Amino acid sequence: MSAPLDIFGVHRVANGALWMEDVALSEVAHTFGTPTFVYSRAALSAAYARLDNALKRARKSKPYLICYAVKANSNLAVLNIFAKLGAGFDIVSGGELRRVLAAGGAPEKVVFSGLGKTRDEIAFALQIGIKGFNVESEPELKRISAVATELGKIARVSLRVNPDVDAKTHPYISTGLKNNKFGVAFDRAISTYQLASTLPNIEIAGVDCHIGSQLTDASPLLEAMGRLVSLADELESGGIPIHHICPGGGVGIAYADEPTIDIDAYATALEQALSIGGKKREMELLLEPGRMLTGNTGLLLAKIEYVKPTESKNFLVIDAAMNDLIRPSLYQAHHEIVMASAASDEVARVYDVVGPVCESADVLGRDRVLAAREGDLVAILSAGAYGFVMSSNYNTRPRAAEVMIDGANVHLARERERVDELFSAEHVPV
Ligand SMILES: *Cc1c(COP(=O)(O)O)cnc(C)c1O
Repeated sequence: MSAPLDIFGVHRVANGALWMEDVALSEVAHTFGTPTFVYSRAALSAAYARLDNALKRARKSKPYLICYAVKANSNLAVLNIFAKLGAGFDIVSGGELRRVLAAGGAPEKVVFSGLGKTRDEIAFALQIGIKGFNVESEPELKRISAVATELGKIARVSLRVNPDVDAKTHPYISTGLKNNKFGVAFDRAISTYQLASTLPNIEIAGVDCHIGSQLTDASPLLEAMGRLVSLADELESGGIPIHHICPGGGVGIAYADEPTIDIDAYATALEQALSIGGKKREMELLLEPGRMLTGNTGLLLAKIEYVKPTESKNFLVIDAAMNDLIRPSLYQAHHEIVMASAASDEVARVYDVVGPVCESADVLGRDRVLAAREGDLVAILSAGAYGFVMSSNYNTRPRAAEVMIDGANVHLARERERVDELFSAEHVPV
């Protein structure tokens, strides 16, 4: 079994057919059609429990909060499961805040990240009463102060500092270096906190960073955490108390057989960073994990439309495309692709697995060995994070359905879009 199939033990192969929990994926395709994102409730719960248990063990009785990064997979069914498990949420828009509330999330556990917060978004978050804002610039700090003053509210803020640490990941998902648009430069952090301490209706809550995504080695995260701890020490000795510290998200997952960060060791190392120099630091530890809680808990189920041999290559043309899952086209990301239909006597051949979109970049996987026939099902693995949420209607393709498996039950988490919905808000000129 490939690593992503093995993870959380929710997939199994029976007579060559792929199952998730107690449901054959062929049954999902039969009931809901394809392409469809399929998530496992057991896997989501297991991913959360693994991190929660690691933090509980490392922190002992000291406080911590897992703020799930909503943008990784924002389906209400997914958010609802994490809310029931006690999670907080890291949001990057007012729309995401509305989703969290609709899914039953607790507003007092929400942190608001993102570098372009509008006045309306800030006002809405203040009225709802979120835990705090991760602030990315001086102008944003002043705007939050002004909006809070108008509304007679107190805004709790953390600065998202840019620790200038190289996350050594794909440049499009690397966010912690000096030259990118995110955060407040590390050497400006103290003066920005001093400004914050003078602004009306602002209460300083914590220090925060997020250096990038899909990290497979913890050392850049721990280096960033070390810088946050020393910044917190400097602020506290300057009379600015710090109540929480957050090294962000970024812990990667196995898309194939690559090494991944040991979650227990990561939790322990974060705890050690908090007691460096033998000092007792009582602040709450926050994390903002996205991908590690959802990536390997879902797959994209698709049907083979055509088997297309050509002189130089064999293609499998499937009914899922780059508009459904853009990661391979955008980041040259690798997703394992396996057969989901019952085994046939077809011989295995090497294929490029492609979608029908009119772009040469519309390749879901290159050089895959599959025993495939027209009409068979394939599963594109590790599609639970940055999958559906990044999908589009390019080529007037309705977005895929999303279902959640829970034991033997199949829950329709989002209906497949209908073509008529796609242009129902458009108007031809008179
Ligand atoms: C996207 C994001 C995260 C989550 O990143 P993952 O790599 O999915 O864990 C956390 N914090 C912030 C501010 C983000 O923008």
